[in-house]
Amino acid sequence: MAIIYTCRHCQDTVGKLAEQYVDTSLLGWDYLTIEEKKEMIHYHSNGDISIQTICESCQETLGQHPQYHELDYFIQ
Ligand SMILES: [Zn+2]
Repeated sequence: MAIIYTCRHCQDTVGKLAEQYVDTSLLGWDYLTIEEKKEMIHYHSNGDISIQTICESCQETLGQHPQYHELDYFIQ
């Protein structure tokens, strides 16, 4: 089983973890609503989990242009 982090903005693979067990509280999932989890976390039939996150370059862009972030939410 692997956990694959994908940037939700540019679709880049941010990172990949091969873990048997992941403490989701460490990932900050406790702060997410169920709806957000459904949207961000996708389970694959082979046991892999993909998680929509944000890569460093997009994070930087959003940090410089916070209005992009609002736009992104608006589109969704
Ligand atoms: Zn990105």
